[in-house]
Amino acid sequence: MLRWLDILKYANNGNPEPPSRVERSAEEWKEVLDEETYRITREKGTEKPYASEMCSLFEAGRYECSSCGTALFDAEEKFDSGSGWPSFTQPLSNDLIAYHKDRGHGMYRIETICNVCDAHLGHVFQDGPEPSFLRFCINGIALKKVESDLRKLTIGGGCFWCTEAIFESVKGVLEVESGYAGGRGANPTYREVSSGLTGHAEVVNITYDKSEISFEDLLRIHLSTHNPTTINKQGADRGTQYRSIILFRNAEEQSAGIKILGEMQELFEDMIVTELKAFESFFLAEPYHQDYYGSNPEKPYCQRVIEPKLVKFRKTFETKMKASK
Ligand SMILES: [Zn+2]
Repeated sequence: MLRWLDILKYANNGNPEPPSRVERSAEEWKEVLDEETYRITREKGTEKPYASEMCSLFEAGRYECSSCGTALFDAEEKFDSGSGWPSFTQPLSNDLIAYHKDRGHGMYRIETICNVCDAHLGHVFQDGPEPSFLRFCINGIALKKVESDLRKLTIGGGCFWCTEAIFESVKGVLEVESGYAGGRGANPTYREVSSGLTGHAEVVNITYDKSEISFEDLLRIHLSTHNPTTINKQGADRGTQYRSIILFRNAEEQSAGIKILGEMQELFEDMIVTELKAFESFFLAEPYHQDYYGSNPEKPYCQRVIEPKLVKFRKTFETKMKASK
C-alpha cells in the first residue's frame, strides 16, 4: 500500500520506473485530444468542481488515463470526498503515477502525473480515508471509466492460512491476500487481532474474474470448506478472529449472501453462524502470513490442518479447480 511518506520520497528523490512510455509532441497531443482535455492534461489546468459526472459514479470498473489508455485506478479505491473532483485512495500500482512538487497558486502541493504519458491528472493529499489516508484528487476529464470483470470478495473462515490456500487454487481467482477486516481501528497487527480486542477477523481478500466464477459459487466453496456452524471457533483455533464471516460490498451482494446462506443451511444440522456484514476496510497482514501454505508446506500446521482441507476441496470442487494445482 502506498503511503504519504512514499509519495514525498518520490517527489523529492525521483519517481518509479514507468511500466511503459507514450511520448507525443504538443502538436500530436492537440490532434488526438479535445481542447478542454488538452488544456487540463497538457497545460496543468483544473476543471470546475462537480464538472465531472464521475464524482457520483461508484460502480465497479477501472479508470484509465484518458490520454494514453493506461488503467490507473480501480473503482474499489474510489470514495466520495465531497470535494467536487473524483477521488481515490490508491492507484492500481505504485509505478503508474509520478509525483511533482507544485508551488503554484501560493500553495505547496504534490501534483500527480500519468507516469506513462505525463498527462497532468490532479493532486494528492494526506486527508483521505483509512487505511492509506491518501486522497488522489483527479480531474474527471483526465480519466476514462471502463468496464471490468474483476471483483473483490472479503471472507473469513478461521485461520487465513487455510482460506488463502483453498482460494489460491480456485479457477477464476487472480489474487488472494491474507489480512484483517470487520473490526475497529486501522492497520491492526497480528498481535492486536489475536488479542481479540480490535474485533477484526482473519480474512482473505480475493480478486476474481466474474466471467469465470460467480460471487455465489465463491460463497458455496467458502461455506463448504470450513465449519460455518461453530461460533468463534474453527477446529482447535478459538477466538473472535477465527469467526466465519462474509463482507458484502453492495445490496446485491448482501441479498446473494442471504440466499446462499439459506441454500447451504440445508447441508448442516446446526445453524450457520456466519456473520454477514458490510465491507468497510481490508488491512493486509504481515508479509510472513502471505501465501503461508505455499511457502511452508512442510510445517506441521500445514500438513495437519490445511492439507486435509485442500484434499476435501479438490474432491468436491474438481471442476472449479485451477488445472495447474
Ligand atoms: Zn497517460
